[in-house]
Order: sequence, then structure tokens, then C-alpha cells
Amino acid sequence: MSKGTIGVTSDNIFPVIKKFLYSDHEIFLRELISNAVDATQKLKTLSSVGEVKGDLGNLRVQVIIDKKKKTLTVRDSGIGMTAEEVDKYINQIAFSGAEEFVNKYKDKTEAIIGHFGLGFYSAFMVSDKVEIFSLSYREDATAVHWSCSGETTYEMEDTIKSDRGTDIVLHINDEFQQYLEDATIEGLLNKYCKFLPVEIVFGKKKEWKDGKQVETEEDNVINDINPAWTRKPADLKDEDYKAFYRRLYPMQMDEPLFWIHLNVDYPFHLTGILYFPKIRTNLDIQKNKIQLYCNQVYVTDEVENIVPQYLTLLHGVIDSPDIPLNVSRSYLQSDNNVKKISSLITKKVADKLAELYKNDKADFEKKWDDIRLFIQYGMLTDEKFYERAVSFALFKNTEGTYFTLDEYKEKIKENQTDKDGNLVVLYTQDPDANFTHIERAKQKGYDVLLMDGELDVHAMSQLEQKNEKLRFTRIDSDILENLIRKEDSKKDEYTDEQKEGLRKAFEAVLPETERLNYYISFEAADKDALPVFLTQNEFMRRMKEMSQHQQGMSFYGQMPDQYNLVVNTAHPLVQELMGKMTSEEIEEAVEKKDDASATETKENEVKETVKKTVWTLVGEDERLHQLTDIALLASGRLKGEPLARFVTRSVSLLK
Ligand code: ADP
Repeated sequence: MSKGTIGVTSDNIFPVIKKFLYSDHEIFLRELISNAVDATQKLKTLSSVGEVKGDLGNLRVQVIIDKKKKTLTVRDSGIGMTAEEVDKYINQIAFSGAEEFVNKYKDKTEAIIGHFGLGFYSAFMVSDKVEIFSLSYREDATAVHWSCSGETTYEMEDTIKSDRGTDIVLHINDEFQQYLEDATIEGLLNKYCKFLPVEIVFGKKKEWKDGKQVETEEDNVINDINPAWTRKPADLKDEDYKAFYRRLYPMQMDEPLFWIHLNVDYPFHLTGILYFPKIRTNLDIQKNKIQLYCNQVYVTDEVENIVPQYLTLLHGVIDSPDIPLNVSRSYLQSDNNVKKISSLITKKVADKLAELYKNDKADFEKKWDDIRLFIQYGMLTDEKFYERAVSFALFKNTEGTYFTLDEYKEKIKENQTDKDGNLVVLYTQDPDANFTHIERAKQKGYDVLLMDGELDVHAMSQLEQKNEKLRFTRIDSDILENLIRKEDSKKDEYTDEQKEGLRKAFEAVLPETERLNYYISFEAADKDALPVFLTQNEFMRRMKEMSQHQQGMSFYGQMPDQYNLVVNTAHPLVQELMGKMTSEEIEEAVEKKDDASATETKENEVKETVKKTVWTLVGEDERLHQLTDIALLASGRLKGEPLARFVTRSVSLLK
């Protein structure tokens, strides 16, 4: 037996390790199994070059729990270690590696959590004592037993071990008894080891018998050693990709829409499969994340700094030994390799989408509604992706026909160019609510797009910025004649004075609702258009909608909703009402009351007086009420008590 002091200068690095990695101590299992797999792969390599002769036997890694002894053992049949090697790799290298690591990250706890770099010594995070039993593959090797109880001293002696390979035995600390539970270990193995290239065995398979789980004869192999992403695309069928998807996300009910098999050798190594999921709700987005692997070892599903943000909407696996894993997240962002990976993935994704569109437009259209969110997000956040995607991003009109931007521009060019040369795209977010507007537009030969997606408002603004003289206008944002103005607007013969009277009258009959402003305007629209109708300013409405998604825009979000109540002076009904009351009559009534300066309460009083006066003036004429309500109703804004009054009034008008 030999005793020695481990070559470290820190008094005792174990408390530091324990403290630092406290919140993520489970990674010890990943580290030990990775070492076991490495040792196995090394043996295979030696065998393939003839340095190891004969049958290698069953090269699996076993994880064994002994509840009585309170130990967890990771057993491999890999190359093993001689006493000299244990001394070199464990006593010196592993320790100094761990020490260096701890010194480097002493002040940056978060930087090391969950990342590689601590290797073998992470075993001490959960153990009182760690033992190694190892027999090297070398001929005439003597087995070695090493043990260390978390002090800076170790013990090493020869031992008897008949099988080649290494057992790492962890005497689990009382605080961490969960690592002696089958369910905990199976859970961790499923998280970290599901796709390791060497079989990982944990006990026997269980099955249900007479309402109980019983062990079978069969080994419980945790992993799939040839996961789909490590195989050649040519060897895989659609069914294989779908099966792999189910394996990755057992709780996901929907099949993926399509996938991209990544296989890059230069300038770095990267493999993987990215799936386009069916995104039903925002909740789905958070759930099944892309998983990052390093040589088939699971690292993390937090890939935000490695792939562009919009790609985090995808599902699947990325595997790269070239992504630096033991560094902080902020460092990742500035790492050149990571940047290259990010732009390479963007390119591959864009290529694939372009190819899908080119090869089968009908199929692409079918999938469009499901991938729209993803593509628009990409276009909005990644300039390069925008440039590629603008040729296959689609627009759907209210008839259900799809167009690319160029196709659509061509389609509407003739009819929807206004007198200033702007190409005006008309759209609706709700075809039911805008039914009347859409019908009128169609009668004029205009086309209307359906823009009801979550990011459509942002997408439209982006397209307007990038395409000079392209304007998107919601179908109800103005009267049709003004939406695509072909000539200067028509003038009517009424004086401002006459209009002012009617304006006050409408103001008085409009229902008062909180956070809602009506602005009354006069337009000489068509005779056959509605006498009174609502429009909503495109700019203000859009800013409000965008503010829901964007920080720093809450100013718009807090503004009350603005509607224009447009009075159509070309309509005979309006013409009859015009002049029924002048603003003079109203003002006179007000003046009688108003003899003091306009303090706030006075202002309100004045308003009340105006209202009362108007009510008396128009009270008899129910048409004013009826017209206002119809305008609100046509835009889906007549609700509650005003709606009930409208219904009663309508019935009485029929008598
Ligand atoms: P790393 O794996 O990053 O090199 P570790 O601290 O995990 O760092 O391990 C140090 C070294 O100890 C390994 O490089 C390897 O040479 C040796 N080693 C660890 N575990 C085993 C094992 N199960 N079989 C053979 N050698 C091992």
C-alpha cells in the first residue's frame, strides 16, 4: 500500500467543489459515465489497430446501486488503468485540472454550473469516499485499488480484479441519498445518457405483472447507441426521423412537419436534426427544447446563445464537440466558433425551406400556417434570414390563395396603386368583423389579405421599411375611397358650421366607454356606402398592437383606442339630418349656463349641458341614434346596454 499527498496547493478543494457545484451536483453521473465510455472507445480503437488482441467481450457500461453499502458504482470494460496511470491521470492531472478549474471560476459560480470541466472529481460532490478498482488492458497488468475520502491524501495498493476495466465506487454522502434510488438514477441516465455510443445498463427491465412491477431477465439498456443524427441521411427513412422525434419528446402528440439533417465537417464539426414542430400555442414553444450534445453526451437544452433566437422554436438535437462547453454564457455569445455555427444553421434552415418550397409548392402551402410564426420571427430578427426567406414567405388572401411577396405585388399592381404610386395592400385580421368592408373592396376588384398571425403586424412594418412605396392598410382603417386614393377626394357642399352641429349631435349620442375615443369626421364617400361607419387609424392601431410584444413601446399600449366615426355626407339620410341643428343653437344653450372660466368641473358641466341640449334637439329624431348604433354594430363595437337599447328601438321602428 502506498499513501500520498495529492498535488494541489489549495488546502482542500473539496469543500470548494461541493459549494460551487451544489445546485448542479447531478452532473457527477454524466462525468463518470463519459469517462467510462471514453475508456471503452479507446479500447475499441486500440483493437482496431491491432494493439489489443482477441475478443473484447461485452463492452457495456454498468451502473449499479448497492443500497446496503450505500454505494453507486460505474463499471466499464474499457482500457483500465495501471497504478502509474492512476497516479498520473487521477492524482496529478485530474486534481490539478480540478484545482485550476476551481481557481479560475471561484468568483463566477454561474459560469461553471452545468458545464463540463470537472471530470472525475465531481464524484466528491456527492460522496464521502471514492474508490477506483482498475485492471489495465496491458498484458501482465496488476489491478490497482485507489481510495480517497475527500481529503488531500489518497491510498493506493495492488488488488485482485479478474476483468479488464474500471469500477468507480462512490460512497454516497448522507445528504445525497436520492442517488441511491433507482428512480433518480434512471431519470438522470435518461437525461444525460440516452444517446451515448456505448450501451449503458442499469439493472433489469421491468414489466407489469398482476398489478405489480417485476424484474425480467432482460438487461435494462438505457440508450440508443446509434441515434438518427449520427447516421447517414441516405440510410434513414421518414419513419426513422419520426421515431427519433418521438424518442426525443415522448410527450409530444403531433408529428413534426419536416426536418433538417445537419452534417457539417468544416470549418467545425456539427451534426444534428432540427425538426419543425406544429406550434399550437405559445405554451408549446417553451416545452420541447433543442438539446445540445457533445459527442452524444447530453449537455443542456439551453441553446439560446448557440443558435439564433428564432431557431429555438425548433425541436431536435445539435451535437458538436467544437462548442466550448466549460465557459460562461456571455462568453459563448462572443465566441467565433459559436457565431459561425449560428450562421451556418441559419443558412441550412433557409436552404431547406427554399428547397421545400421549390419542390412542392402545394405541400409547402399546406404547412405554411404552421411554420409562419417561425419564419416571420426569423425574418424579423435575422437580416440574413430575411434576405433568404422573402422569396418563400407566403401571404394568404381571404379566398385562401397563397402568394409570395413578388407574386402578390404583381397581382395587385394594376388595381391597387394609388395616385402617388404607392402599392396599397389591403388586409383584414378578422374577416367576420370586416365582412362589409371586404365585400365592398371585392366589388371594386380589390384583393384582401388575411393577416391574423401573431407577428403579422411586425412583419408588415418590416416589409414597408424594406419596400419603398409598399403600404399595408387594414380594410377598415378608412373609407375605401381613401384607402387607395385614385384622385383627390370629393368635396361636399356643406359649411363647417352645419357640420359642427351634426358633429356635436353625434358626440352626444355615442355611448361613453372608458379608454375609447371617437373622433367624428365628414367624408363625401359613395352614396351606396353606409351613412355612418367606423374606421380606425392604421398607424395608431398598429403601434398599439406592436406594443404588446415590444418593450419600450408601452406608451402606445396605454393610449385609449381611437376610432373615427365617419359621417358620409354623400348619403341621403345624412343630408336630411344636416342642418337639423346648428352649433349656434347648441352654443346658445351653453352660454346661458356658462358664465365662469373653464375649470375642470366647469368643463364637465359644459359638456353635460351640451349633451342635454342636443338630446332635446334630436330626441325626437331617432335616426341619429339608429345611425350611430348601426355604425358601431357594423364594426362589432355595439355591446351591453347600448346594444339592448338599439334592439328595442329597432323593434319599435318596425311598428
Ligand atoms: P477528463 O476526462 O476530462 O480527461 P477526468 O478528471 O474525468 O478528466 O479524468 C482524468 C483522466 O483519468 C482521464 O483523461 C482518463 O485518462 C482517466 N480516467 C478516468 N476515468 C477512467 C476510466 N473509467 N477508465 C480509464 N481511464 C479513466
